[in-house]
Amino acid sequence: MTAPLFLSRTLSVCPVCLQVVEANLISKDNAVYLTKECHEHGASELKVWPDVEHYRWMNSFAFPLVLLRL
Ligand SMILES: [Zn+2]
Repeated sequence: MTAPLFLSRTLSVCPVCLQVVEANLISKDNAVYLTKECHEHGASELKVWPDVEHYRWMNSFAFPLVLLRL
């Protein structure tokens, strides 16, 4: 059990009304979760990646692509 660690802020949709809501990508217990809160339907949490190290490894490929576009 590790403390939740904030990874990044993004946009997602409420699973009930499908409105776009702000979401936080966090890591918890070595997995990656997307937490979001709809002002009508409350908070929800979605496990998006089972392994935070693998997520970081995948993300490491995205950075050079972003830099090339600048
Ligand atoms: Zn909603």
